[in-house]
Amino acid sequence: MEGKLYRGEDYKEFDSQDYLKTYYTFDSGTVAENEILKFNLKNLFQTFSSGGVGGDILIDIGTGPTIYQLLSACEVFREIIVSDYTDQNLREVEKWLKKEPGAYDWSPAVQYVCELEGDRSRWQEKEARLRRTVTRLLKCDVTEPHPLGPAQVLPADCVLTLLALECACHDVDTYRAAIRNLVSLLKPGGHLVTAVTLGFQGYIVGNKNFFGLHLEKETVEKALQDAGCQVLRCQHSPISYTETFCISKGMCFAVARKSPSA
Ligand code: SAH
Repeated sequence: MEGKLYRGEDYKEFDSQDYLKTYYTFDSGTVAENEILKFNLKNLFQTFSSGGVGGDILIDIGTGPTIYQLLSACEVFREIIVSDYTDQNLREVEKWLKKEPGAYDWSPAVQYVCELEGDRSRWQEKEARLRRTVTRLLKCDVTEPHPLGPAQVLPADCVLTLLALECACHDVDTYRAAIRNLVSLLKPGGHLVTAVTLGFQGYIVGNKNFFGLHLEKETVEKALQDAGCQVLRCQHSPISYTETFCISKGMCFAVARKSPSA
């Protein structure tokens, strides 16, 4: 392991393949990682199948090299915009969208979500639907007041962000500002949906140590409220990552609604 702590602009050196191998290998020995993925997939399923959250545009922020977070959402949004700080993560998503050689195989996750939705056999149909629904891949920086930079994007019905802000923000004030920046992308009454690694202290990708911001569930809820949202749900789970990869203590999954008069 290198001694350096990677953060901020160092994300240029984030290895998408190493990240996928460590945190998203299904049915391997990494039981905790599988449980965390299932926790997020179940919460996403509940959020997007309950009838309350849906519409025209969903923006996923800090998408990384992953698409699992969009599998339930693609059934209830007309258009999905994915975004990340790094080119290599966007490229990894593009490879999957275009079915290019070497694209990551998400089919076990897709099948799992189809099973939650009641029909495991429709997984190829869901993959095709997600590929049709993602219309844009944009660069983003959550620490900027306009996280999507100069890109012209209409106000969204939903902003989704999983496991990204606690990587991108180096202190709680920056985290709170990032939540405000993301809320500014929403229509009044739109939803912000987020999953957070709690008690985070950092994680490894390949042989690199990345910074992690220590957050408590209450800090997440307060940041959402102070940004003008009502917290509709904040589900806590005690599951933590395998300690050799990532130091953390529990997870939370929150659904918040921007004030309709904002
Ligand atoms: N959402 C994915 C990836 C999380 S990894 C998942 O659920 O697995 C953390 C992600 O945060 C990386 O993709 C990284 O590129 C992104 N990131 C780091 N700094 C960022 C910033 N300032 N703005 C937006 N995204 C950032």
